[in-house]
Amino acid sequence: MSKLANEQMKPETQNSKPETQNPKPKTQNPSPFQVDENGYYGNFGGAFIPEMLYPNVEELRQRYLGIMAEPSFQQEFQQLLKDYVGRPSPLYFAKRLSEKYQTNIFLKREDLNHTGAHKVNNTLGQILLAKRLGKQKIIAETGAGQHGVATATVCALMGMECIVYMGEVDIARQRPNVERMLMLGAQVIPALTGSRTLKDATNEAMRHWINHPTDTHYIIGSVVGPHPYPDMVARFQSVISEEMRWQLKAQTGRENPDYILACVGGGSNAAGAFYHYLDEEEVKLVAVEAAGHGVHTDKSAATTFLGKVGILHGSKTLLMQTADGQVIEPHSISAGLDYPGIGPIYAHLKEKGRAIFLSATDAESIEAGFLLAEMEGIIPAIESAHALAALDQLDFQASDVVVVNLSGRGDKDLQTYIEWKKKRNE
Ligand SMILES: *Cc1c(COP(=O)(O)O)cnc(C)c1O
Repeated sequence: MSKLANEQMKPETQNSKPETQNPKPKTQNPSPFQVDENGYYGNFGGAFIPEMLYPNVEELRQRYLGIMAEPSFQQEFQQLLKDYVGRPSPLYFAKRLSEKYQTNIFLKREDLNHTGAHKVNNTLGQILLAKRLGKQKIIAETGAGQHGVATATVCALMGMECIVYMGEVDIARQRPNVERMLMLGAQVIPALTGSRTLKDATNEAMRHWINHPTDTHYIIGSVVGPHPYPDMVARFQSVISEEMRWQLKAQTGRENPDYILACVGGGSNAAGAFYHYLDEEEVKLVAVEAAGHGVHTDKSAATTFLGKVGILHGSKTLLMQTADGQVIEPHSISAGLDYPGIGPIYAHLKEKGRAIFLSATDAESIEAGFLLAEMEGIIPAIESAHALAALDQLDFQASDVVVVNLSGRGDKDLQTYIEWKKKRNE
């Protein structure tokens, strides 16, 4: 298996590091769960793009692994992950939560990263790559604004021009994140077509990229989009499971947990948490989708449950669509999980039975968020609370080691939590 992040930046106090391993990603993944040389995860993935986008995507495809393997790239990436993002993120043994579930629950604290979530691992990696590709401008699209903020952040860090496309409706809904992006120096351009939400912002970003192929890099925020994006983003996020291995070894004596739970919107935090365990069949990988009001209602975002095979954002995957192939607007209370598709790796993991797919409703997730706040003093992002809610759906042994990837912090969701509580108490 390839290794993205090298070992040299681990804290000196950790005496349980594994021996130094080859930090260079191999050009091919021998694992049946990794992308193949044609850009596919089994029957899914690929690069279904308009001809005019081909040169951009092809340049990226030819160069991403080579650039990521360069020692100077790794040096800069590792240094910034440590000093700017604040990695390694702690692996915290949640004692009171463990007592409640009668097992051993660890939280991987991506919520403690700079900007409050895992997304910055990827945007940082991609901007370093963009610099080495000689690009001067960055574009991104955003729905809830979290990826826009993570992109604007690294653009400020690198002094690069940043344009974020965002649906006009989302701009109105997500004002605080728009203000953050503006303060970070980004330009936020409203998408005025269609439903004026994420998919329209994506179209605008694509159009911009077609018109500015040589000087612009497009930072996609999850393990979605045409090859090589899903693999590239997974590699940048793989630092999560790389740290988990030595942290678990130090705290439990073994590298492999029994379960890893992560919420899945597009799937990047889960891909990072699963990455180094994909071939360790005894590790149960649990992907938790947003059920919204319930998978049997028309307000849901549980793509692997409701979706059918189709092509979305340049990739063959599962997506929620009508009988004639129109994308169905998903619903989740958490803006980050409100996506009609899913990364192609998940369509493959589902087909192969390698991961367990669960879903949690809005109500279950919010309540799980309150539970974590009250029992552990941690307010999770509502996205991450979906992974916590799934703890109720699994049967643990007292000796099990369970890791929940806490993808982000809940400050951004305070209003939603407050409104929920008000309604509950009425
Ligand atoms: C964006 C986001 C997600 C969903 O994105 P993935 O690519 O599925 O990880 C989950 N949690 C948080 C905190 C987010 O900001």
